[in-house]
Amino acid sequence: MSATPPPRAREPQPGARRARPQGGAATRLEVVLCCTECKSRNYKTTKRPDKVLSIRKFCKTCGRHTLHQESK
Ligand SMILES: [Zn+2]
Repeated sequence: MSATPPPRAREPQPGARRARPQGGAATRLEVVLCCTECKSRNYKTTKRPDKVLSIRKFCKTCGRHTLHQESK
């Protein structure tokens, strides 16, 4: 009986490259979310190009939740 080690298949690295099942046409656009009241750029997020973001989030400058919209 020879103790040959089992052939090591090249395992895919976790998180390296994940094959998308549907071809991956979903482009995500990176945008900055600005407070509509003080214009502070508080958040960064991604969105779909065909959507317009308008989210209520906490603004540190205003000290409360305000409406945030995307800006370039
Ligand atoms: Zn604000």
